[in-house]
Amino acid sequence: MLNYDLIVCGAGPAGAMAAATAAQAGLKVALLEKQILPRHKTCGGGTPMVMQSLLYDLAPEAFVESDVVSLRQTWHFDDPYLAAINPLGVDRPLSIWMMQRSVFDNALAQRAVRAGAELRDGLAVRSVEVENDGVRVRAQVTKANGTLSKGDAFVATARTVIGADGANGVTAKAAKLRQTRAIALGMEVEFPHEWGTGHPDLQSDVAHLEYGAVKHGYAWVFPKADHLNIGAGLFRPARQDARSDRQIREALRQSIFDYLEMLQLPYDRAQMKFHAHPLPIWCGKERLNTADGRILLVGDAAGLINPLFGDGILHAAKSGIIAATCVTSGTTQAYSDRIHDEFANSFNAARRLAYFFYQYPKIFYQYGVKNPKAAHIATQLLAGDLPFNAILGRALRRIGTGMISSLSSVKPSVRL
Ligand SMILES: Cc1cc2nc3c(=O)[nH]c(=O)nc-3n(C[C@H](O)[C@H](O)[C@H](O)COP(=O)(O)OP(=O)(O)OC[C@H]3O[C@@H](n4cnc5c(N)ncnc54)[C@H](O)[C@@H]3O)c2cc1C
Repeated sequence: MLNYDLIVCGAGPAGAMAAATAAQAGLKVALLEKQILPRHKTCGGGTPMVMQSLLYDLAPEAFVESDVVSLRQTWHFDDPYLAAINPLGVDRPLSIWMMQRSVFDNALAQRAVRAGAELRDGLAVRSVEVENDGVRVRAQVTKANGTLSKGDAFVATARTVIGADGANGVTAKAAKLRQTRAIALGMEVEFPHEWGTGHPDLQSDVAHLEYGAVKHGYAWVFPKADHLNIGAGLFRPARQDARSDRQIREALRQSIFDYLEMLQLPYDRAQMKFHAHPLPIWCGKERLNTADGRILLVGDAAGLINPLFGDGILHAAKSGIIAATCVTSGTTQAYSDRIHDEFANSFNAARRLAYFFYQYPKIFYQYGVKNPKAAHIATQLLAGDLPFNAILGRALRRIGTGMISSLSSVKPSVRL
């Protein structure tokens, strides 16, 4: 039987970063991935440029398709507000990178291979069991690959397993972790686009955000090299799990059609290929490693989606590095604490802000979003340069003032 120091289940950003970090430190690492890479991944593919600090040995040219420096924001596709991410006078310019996840994730997996990890794609993990001599992982070949045929079994053991198998992964269930979850939903289409043609608002360095069209969420248009990623997400689900709610899917789909109409992009309804995927949003501190420290969860498998923006790529990558560092230093039982130190204060504040933002989006649009510094602050928050807890009080006060102003501007319906 195959034996490793570490088996990583899932080769998204969380798993690939964990595998690369552990292999670089000299561990024998297997990186198991259900699909054959490169593969499509349902995502907007936007991440703050600070990602480069985690990928110092991978040139951005390998995966960055456009560099966003402005946000064009709307309320019900009206009242547009174009904001520079770097207004005059900022000392550290920021931007948001746009990439295709198929390219990015494959580049990260190949980076892990260069560091010494053994990538086995086309292998779906079916069970993860802690035994006396380590953790046994059973997987099945999903697509014929090399000497393996579809359906063949793969069994291996390792001292430690990292569950990086995303929102629908099997590791969290097998480890009986993450019993209570809040599952939001995102949807996107990749719409072919030739830059320099079409609506003048479409620019390769501008991302579009629409706040009124989706109840408890927002819609977006992200520029890529040869297409637009047009999507929508519901980030504050009314029920614990938004996955099976058909009405939500229909509302997200409709807001994507509305964006296409607004940008005067001709489309054939029957040809549109929608991709939807769950978003396991942060819902407070919880244990992310088994008590014996043999199984750790990272990225979406650990519920590390920012409750306000719905982003998770950077957090997935960071948690992968933290998990691998705990494995190499023999401190896996302290892994949850390390994750809480990194994310809990900021994400708890983001959760509070999300509650108000998605409850009163119009007020937030008028008094928060349409502030000349807001795009810069939002990008700082996205990058983790500024924690949400540092702005929570100020943001809520501003919105409180906005609510009072909007109430006092409502004309009384009865004459006194
Ligand atoms: C519509 C949408 C738009 C989004 N847009 C953005 C965005 O613009 N920016 C951002 O930061 N975040 C965005 N996100 C969130 C982001 O996609 C995730 O947070 C991120 O992919 C998490 O990375 P991960 O490595 O934890 O998991 P994943 O990227 O989901 O990777 C998990 C991997 O595990 C594999 N896997 C699953 N099950 C098994 C198994 N049994 N055996 C082996 N392998 C398995 C999967 O095939 C996959 O490759 C978006 C999400 C959605 C749904």
